[in-house]
Amino acid sequence: MKTHPKHVLKHCNKCGSSDTFYTDGDAVKCRACGFQLYINAAPAVAGLIINDNDELLLTVRKYEPFQGMLDLPGGFVDHLETAEEALTREIKEELNLNVKNLKYFCSTPNRYLYGGLTYFTLDFSFQCEVENFEGMHACDDVKKIYFIHIKDIDPKMIGGQSMSKAVKKFQQYWLQSKQL
Ligand SMILES: [Zn+2]
Repeated sequence: MKTHPKHVLKHCNKCGSSDTFYTDGDAVKCRACGFQLYINAAPAVAGLIINDNDELLLTVRKYEPFQGMLDLPGGFVDHLETAEEALTREIKEELNLNVKNLKYFCSTPNRYLYGGLTYFTLDFSFQCEVENFEGMHACDDVKKIYFIHIKDIDPKMIGGQSMSKAVKKFQQYWLQSKQL
């Protein structure tokens, strides 16, 4: 099944024409009215939260895609929101935690299938500190929360290629910097 937007979107979003819609690079264009729709990557954010015992906070996904698999907390950046605001909001929504001192770590591109359409994202991971873990609980699209020692994490347990790559990179960085 071809799930790229250029195969799924069959009508012009503006004038509704179907026989004049064609793909040009990363855009779909309409010959009838000239409308162009760019297939951009959506920015998303993820939090790398590590406790005093060198354990990384991982969540279990409640919904598809990657339902039941491990993930980092986070989500999509809303319109007109900064990445830092988005991550602070997402971690409050998902874990009821207040993060501080957000430090950019890395970015990893991703694609995933949802509702028969492939979405492209660029996932920005930030290392963040948490004031305290009191009141933490799984909510929103998180089913469970785990703390796993950085040494014991197998990046293959993480659903989604970009999060898996980010965790692997962070694992290497942490083991090296702490000489674990
Ligand atoms: Zn059109």
